[in-house]
Amino acid sequence: MQIKHSLVIPCFNEEGNVEIFFRAAKEAFKGYTDNYELIFVNDGSRDKTGEKLKKIFEENKDTKIKIINFSRNFGKESAMFAGLEASSGEYTTIIDADMQQRPEVAVQMGKILNEHPEYDMVAAFQEKRKDGALLSKVKTAFYSVINKVSEVNLIEDASDFRTMRRNVVETIISLTEYHRFSKGIFSWIGFNTCSIPYEVMERESGETKWSVRKLIKYALDGIMAYTDLPLKLPVYFGIGTGIFDVLLFLCLLIADLGFDKDCGLGFIACLVIFLFAILSVFLGIMGIYIGKIHTQVKSRPIYIAKEILTYEENT
Ligand code: UDP
Ligand code: MG
Repeated sequence: MQIKHSLVIPCFNEEGNVEIFFRAAKEAFKGYTDNYELIFVNDGSRDKTGEKLKKIFEENKDTKIKIINFSRNFGKESAMFAGLEASSGEYTTIIDADMQQRPEVAVQMGKILNEHPEYDMVAAFQEKRKDGALLSKVKTAFYSVINKVSEVNLIEDASDFRTMRRNVVETIISLTEYHRFSKGIFSWIGFNTCSIPYEVMERESGETKWSVRKLIKYALDGIMAYTDLPLKLPVYFGIGTGIFDVLLFLCLLIADLGFDKDCGLGFIACLVIFLFAILSVFLGIMGIYIGKIHTQVKSRPIYIAKEILTYEENT
C-alpha cells in the first residue's frame, strides 16, 4: 500500500531535538493517518544525533522510520534532496528537526491537499520574521534583487517547509543540478501552490546553523543559479565606457587639449580607454556564451507537463 504521507527531516547536530520531534510527529499524526513514514537525514552531525536516531529506530519498530546517515556534512539542500529521493508518500513534507516548524502544520497541509485537488503543493510562509532589523532589511533587498534580475519569482519569507504531491516530488528529484537552491526550484517548476502563514517557534535546543558566511554563500548560489546577468555586465560596461571615450575625444578635440605633436597625452588616454571598452565588450560576449553553457549543463527539462490527456485513454 502506498504511504500516505512522508516527512523528510534534515538533521545537523540536532541531538537535543530529534527525540522531541519524533514524539511530536507521532502525536500530530494520530487521527490523521497511521500510514506515514519519517525520513531522517543525518547530515554528517558531529554530536550524538546519529546515536539518538538509531535508538529511536530500534525502539519504535511499529513506526515506519528511515534514516540516511551522510558520510559528512553536505548541507541542508543535499539533505532535502536525499530525503525526497527516499520518500514514497502520496504527500511529502520537508520539515526542520528543531521544532521551529510544527508537525501539526504538516498534518494541516496534508488535510488541505485532501480537500483541494486543485493544489499540488502547500507552502508555509513565515508570518512574523524573528530576524533582527538589519538581517531583515538585507533579506528584503536580496529578494527584490533576485526577483528583478532572474526568471523566477521568489515569495519573500516562503520557507522550505512545504508539502508536495508525488508528481511535484518526482519533478524536483528529476532536477539533478549540483548547486541546488530549493527556493528557486520550487518556484521554477510551477504547479499550483497554496501558501499558508505559520508562526516560527523558538528552537527547542541547540542553535541555528546559519552564519553570515553561510548566508552570503546561499544568497550568491541563489543569484548565480537563476541569473546570468553578472556574466553579461561587461558588455554594458564596455559600451558605456566606449560612449564616454568618444565624448572625451570630442571634448579634448574641441578644447584643443592633449593633441599637440609633442605631448599627445589626450590621444593616448582616449586610445587606452577605447581598447579597454573593446576588451570589456568581448569579455561580456564570452560571458553570454558561458551563461548559455551554464543553463545547458544543468540539463533542466525544457518544459514540465502537469497532465497530458490523449485520445488513446479517452474511452
Ligand atoms: N540542517 C542540515 N544541514 C546543515 C544545516 C542545517 O540538515 O548543514 C538542518 C537543521 O538540522 C535543521 C534545518 O536544516 O533541521 C534548518 O536549520 P536551522 O534550524 O539551522 O536553520 P534556521 O531555522 O535557523 O533557518
Ligand atoms: Mg531552525
